[in-house]
Amino acid sequence: MAGVKEKVLIIGSGPAGYTAAIYAARAGLTPVLYTGGQPGGQLTITNDVENFPGYPDGVNGPTMMVDLQKQAERFGTRVNFGLVISVDFSSWPLKVVVDTKHEIEAEAVIVATGATAKYLGIPSETKFANNGVSACAVCDGYFYRGKEVAVVGAGDSAAEESTYLSKLVTKVHLIVRREEMRASKIMQQRVKNTPNIEIHWNTETDEILGDDAGVNGVRIKNNKTGEMKVLPIQGFFLAIGHKPNTDIFKGQLEMDEAGYVKVKPGTTFTNVEGVFAVGDVADRTYRQAVTAAGTGCMGALDAERFLVGRELEIAHS
Ligand code: NDP
Repeated sequence: MAGVKEKVLIIGSGPAGYTAAIYAARAGLTPVLYTGGQPGGQLTITNDVENFPGYPDGVNGPTMMVDLQKQAERFGTRVNFGLVISVDFSSWPLKVVVDTKHEIEAEAVIVATGATAKYLGIPSETKFANNGVSACAVCDGYFYRGKEVAVVGAGDSAAEESTYLSKLVTKVHLIVRREEMRASKIMQQRVKNTPNIEIHWNTETDEILGDDAGVNGVRIKNNKTGEMKVLPIQGFFLAIGHKPNTDIFKGQLEMDEAGYVKVKPGTTFTNVEGVFAVGDVADRTYRQAVTAAGTGCMGALDAERFLVGRELEIAHS
């Protein structure tokens, strides 16, 4: 297998990957970026982004990602469509295999593979994606001001997102599949003390209802009594967890129990020298485009410093 040599290789094409590319390219590191299977990342399945600073009128998610790509390319980033299928970080230079046949040897690797929101797996969820169904209350809650919404989940995300939404909407229906919540006591208490949040215990989502204009209801089923009910909602929010896209790094990078890459606090350094993790792949808390972009910048600066240090070491050896 031919090993192409690269200085900086970036894996992933969301705001974190492209921001890392902009900074690395402007530092003269001529990075190469592999997009992964969903070029542009999670924002390509979002309509309007209204909370990214600098866009007073908001920006369409896919447009923003095309702009970020152009900005990265303008300074010399080579953006390649390709899926990294395996890595070998056991020695330096670091080895990365793209699309089964193409091996790259990189001096620094910036991991920006993101995380994927978990979905229930019912057909109506896909049908109404971006048209009433969302996996991010902070991103999309504002569009449901003065309306009624449902949140599914029972962890800290569901509790936090329900509380967040309760300030914008008339009513939040929290759909919990068991008779208790997994969320921390304090967050559960906050939910229970909010008058416009109604918790539906032992309840599962049967189908999301709607038409071309979007969602107009959700049919829920009590899994103890079998009773079915339709709630008149316009927004349906999933908060049943995220899965970090880290399968290819198992056994190579240190991760937490949920599979998020561990970084040295306040930096993007992983446990492997020369490998940096940025964006949602290393962030189970904030998961915002702007925080991903921020850590993308940090990753490029950390990589640049690492490479300078490495060159000095080699020069003096
Ligand atoms: P969790 O994995 O903690 O919780 C997922 C929840 O979704 C569970 O309650 C689970 O139910 C429910 N669920 C899973 N699948 C389904 C399904 N098919 N149908 C219905 N319900 C389902 O994910 P979170 O995103 O809530 O949290 C992830 C991590 O991030 C946690 O460690 C959390 O503490 C942390 N976090 C911290 C925050 C904070 O401190 N501010 C905010 C947000 C997250 P069940 O309980 O029945 O398994």
